[in-house]
Amino acid sequence: MENYKCKSVGIVGSGIQGVCTGLQLIKKGIPVTIFDRQDPLSSEYKPASYGNAGHFSPYAVLQFNRPDILVDVPKMLFSSYGPLALKWNYIPKMFNWFLYYLKNCNKKSMLHTAKYMHQILSLSNDAYEEIFQEINVDGLVEKKGIIYVWTNKNLKSRKLEIKVRNDLGVKQKLLTREEILELEPNLNPVFDAGVIFENAMHARDPHGILKEIFKLYLKRGGKFIQSDITSIEQKTANETIIKSANDVYIFEKSVVASGAFSKKLTDQLGENIPLDTERGYHVHFKGKDKLISRPVIFLDRGFGMTPMNQGLRAVGTVELGGLKNPLSKKRIEYIINCAKELLPQLEKHDDEWLGFRPTLPDFLPILGPSLKNKNIIYAFGHQHLGWTLGAITGKIISGLVAGEKTNLDLAPYSSKRFN
Ligand SMILES: Cc1cc2nc3c(=O)[nH]c(=O)nc-3n(C[C@H](O)[C@H](O)[C@H](O)COP(=O)(O)OP(=O)(O)OC[C@H]3O[C@@H](n4cnc5c(N)ncnc54)[C@H](O)[C@@H]3O)c2cc1C
Repeated sequence: MENYKCKSVGIVGSGIQGVCTGLQLIKKGIPVTIFDRQDPLSSEYKPASYGNAGHFSPYAVLQFNRPDILVDVPKMLFSSYGPLALKWNYIPKMFNWFLYYLKNCNKKSMLHTAKYMHQILSLSNDAYEEIFQEINVDGLVEKKGIIYVWTNKNLKSRKLEIKVRNDLGVKQKLLTREEILELEPNLNPVFDAGVIFENAMHARDPHGILKEIFKLYLKRGGKFIQSDITSIEQKTANETIIKSANDVYIFEKSVVASGAFSKKLTDQLGENIPLDTERGYHVHFKGKDKLISRPVIFLDRGFGMTPMNQGLRAVGTVELGGLKNPLSKKRIEYIINCAKELLPQLEKHDDEWLGFRPTLPDFLPILGPSLKNKNIIYAFGHQHLGWTLGAITGKIISGLVAGEKTNLDLAPYSSKRFN
């Protein structure tokens, strides 16, 4: 393996996973072509990597496969006005996902997910810093930490989160209501306490950062083809085939980095991976980004606000409803009302956006080769943390493609766990 050099790679998806992987491969001298339906440099480009909350969250080890959350799920689902919503027409299609979710909603699985999210999250900021050395991020990244606030209603859950983070050595500083207001004096004090993650950063424009990384990729010789990919297969030991309606492309290796849309391709590869989507929303309050200095997340409401170049981005909620249902006005209203609860001075909003988090039922991503097609590598399923994990995913996947050794334990991210 020492002198192995892959001859060519095709990547399906120009979200943050695809672009960071493409950049790392090009830096290793491997020719790469990225495919996407949308050009990352165009104004039509609006995937999850465009509209997320922009948090670089290396602290966010605990996911939603938690027994304490499971207890609240039915109550949340039957309330039309809460942080979790369901498109009822989609329930039959999510049945398999729910079964896996229930299986993974226990203390042991919760801690397993936390441990292996921590393994990659703890490397995530450094991986971005390396990229930031090579692109211009002036006005695009801020390092002021991220604040979470909460009321005293779910203290048992808050204590659990604090303990798991402490046990894993995650840096956190608990705040009283008064301390939060010292940092963010415009907030309406409807919360009781909170925490700040001082080493967290935020993007003032996730799409702006992605475009800079993509431009660097192109400058280094990476290719891009705007195309809707219909199939992917491994033809021979050294040939993978990526097809669109009219064209056929051959590469030695291929990477599936198609976010929540990856299942359409992995199903063709004979693997029944239970990938689904947690739909999320955002709106902008233009010119209101100065009201807070850093992202503020209201945990009880499952929503947050990030000061961005487009304005104050109010973002969040989880809606289970697949990729085809239209945007829900009720979810948009919910986010707007939550934002106004924390900042009553907000008025008119713009830019209603729906995005698709790619989520597996154990809340770990899939990073590694397809079980039956070793030259097709998976890089999807990063759920709420795909923005944070983009740069480190690029390093891991490019290393796998190039056949490099790693000190990381990558077994827990294999698709084997669902087969
Ligand atoms: C509301 C919301 C808030 C979020 N906030 C944060 C946050 O603050 N921090 C964080 O870390 N994460 C956050 N996330 C999660 C994060 O945005 C995603 O996990 C991440 O962007 C996924 O990146 P990706 O590259 O896997 O997928 P995507 O960004 O979805 O990109 C996939 C790309 O593949 C293309 N594609 C798919 N199928 C095909 C095909 N067949 N042919 C051609 N092209 C194809 C799509 O067009 C798309 O451009 C948030 C997500 C949402 C929805």
